[in-house]
Amino acid sequence: MKNFYLWLEDLHALHQNTVSNFPTDRTKAEVREPKLSLTPMPENNELLVKANVPGKDDIYKASILFQNVNYQQLPKDKQLDLYHFLFTNPLNGHKFYIERLSMRGNNVKVDCSCPDFKNTFNTANYSQNALYGASSKLPSKRNPKNVPGLCKHLWRVVQELQQKGILIDSKTLTLMTYL
Ligand SMILES: [Zn+2]
Repeated sequence: MKNFYLWLEDLHALHQNTVSNFPTDRTKAEVREPKLSLTPMPENNELLVKANVPGKDDIYKASILFQNVNYQQLPKDKQLDLYHFLFTNPLNGHKFYIERLSMRGNNVKVDCSCPDFKNTFNTANYSQNALYGASSKLPSKRNPKNVPGLCKHLWRVVQELQQKGILIDSKTLTLMTYL
């Protein structure tokens, strides 16, 4: 029987791939604070995070599409618990009560407009079903083993989501910490 989970990537796997397969550690790079915008898509159990990330000469556009996201009814008493976060759409005031996203477990598709992502990860991420958007389908000299991963801008967006409490390392580990 084919194990289709082999074809899915979460942020934990992309991060591990990135730090263990390339000489430059992209997670240690200094990147300025990104501006995030979240688009909930409860009909598909997805959440799209788009970010403008300031670079040296340009503002790069990074995207992370989270899949298998759990949307739930806002509790009647409006008491939030540790497992969820509340997002209010600034355009129309709609409120979404969402289970915190996880480094391990939420499948993702990612993209960034920077040259590093285009030249290193675009084709590799595409081949693992972890690319958001169009693929160049060109083989990468910088990535001969075709390892999917994250550029420094995407990693900075991951850190920002963690700081805001939207993204946690692992649902199980976090629950154990609070017990
Ligand atoms: Zn980038």
